[in-house]
Amino acid sequence: MRLVDEEDNASVDLSVVIPVFNEKESLQPLYSELKQSLKALPYSWEIVFVDDGSFDGSVDVLKSIQAGDDQVGIILFRRNFGQTAALSAGFDYARGDIIITMDADMQNDPADIGIVVGKLADGYDIVSGWRRARKDKWLSRKLPSKIANRLISRMTGVRLHDYGCTLKAYRREVIKNLRLYGELHRFIPALANERGAKVTELEVNHRARQFGQSKYTLSRTTRVLLDLANVKFLLEYRTKPLQFFGKLGLFGLAAGALIFFLTVAMKIFQGVDISGNPLLVMSLFMFTAGIQLISIGLVGELVTRAYYETQGKPIYVVKEARLAGGLPDGDDPLKVTP
Ligand code: UDP
Ligand code: MG
Repeated sequence: MRLVDEEDNASVDLSVVIPVFNEKESLQPLYSELKQSLKALPYSWEIVFVDDGSFDGSVDVLKSIQAGDDQVGIILFRRNFGQTAALSAGFDYARGDIIITMDADMQNDPADIGIVVGKLADGYDIVSGWRRARKDKWLSRKLPSKIANRLISRMTGVRLHDYGCTLKAYRREVIKNLRLYGELHRFIPALANERGAKVTELEVNHRARQFGQSKYTLSRTTRVLLDLANVKFLLEYRTKPLQFFGKLGLFGLAAGALIFFLTVAMKIFQGVDISGNPLLVMSLFMFTAGIQLISIGLVGELVTRAYYETQGKPIYVVKEARLAGGLPDGDDPLKVTP
């Protein structure tokens, strides 16, 4: 089901999308700050808060903010689906020509919005914030993130100092048809770049967390590594899995054949018994692995076709959503039928 009609929906200049997971104390001050910054800009705007299954009372705060301001929309998830899902929902529901994402914990500075949007106007499709003076713990956050950024930059070819900074600005076109899974929101610049988006980065302000706690720990690092392997594969072989698996498979077959001939040669010239030669087992193993890998590649080709040819489904379940501006009943895209 397509939730949002593209044309009807593009009716403000900026949408600020904010994922929220248990950030009760930050929401009201964040909202005031944001409003002040947005009012000072020459754009029309809306704020879309996506509550990712908070259980600390954030929902009540969001509801009261939304009730008092028709430039604010809220989307409430049924449970915690993760930051990627929250951002995806925000992208689906946002009506802006430009979409800004930022954290709910006030670590990003709303005063940077104008600067980031200004940079988009220089002809970029994505402007990614760089928290050069990042106010987080060194060992558990800054160091792993530094390594991850190096790795991601090198593997994807899109060189950014700070993939993890939520403060980013996107042109609507590059974000709308991007399907995100797992924790792939971090890789949006690389994924969008593959589709032709022009990406740049800009230094932004970063502040220490005042309320609540970070939702991530060091264990995220392993997930980032696996995601990176995933992204690398998606970027290079998504449309041609046989090229990846087939190459390995052919190597297996060739090595198997070579070792088998070696075994036979050893029998003929040195009288080594074939059945007692461990190389025989190795050649069989290589053959089998080769055939398996080629088969996986072929199945991958089928999967790829299914992936491209079927309709994408949203990766979240929305419990309730209240849009900024309140669309007329009939074409309210947020009407959720159980
Ligand atoms: N967040 C979310 N769902 C989650 C985890 C985090 O929506 O499962 C939100 C969180 O409320 C915050 C943003 O994502 O607005 C970034 O999280 P956090 O500040 O904990 O990460 P950090 O800044 O420490 O990297
Ligand atoms: Mg934070």
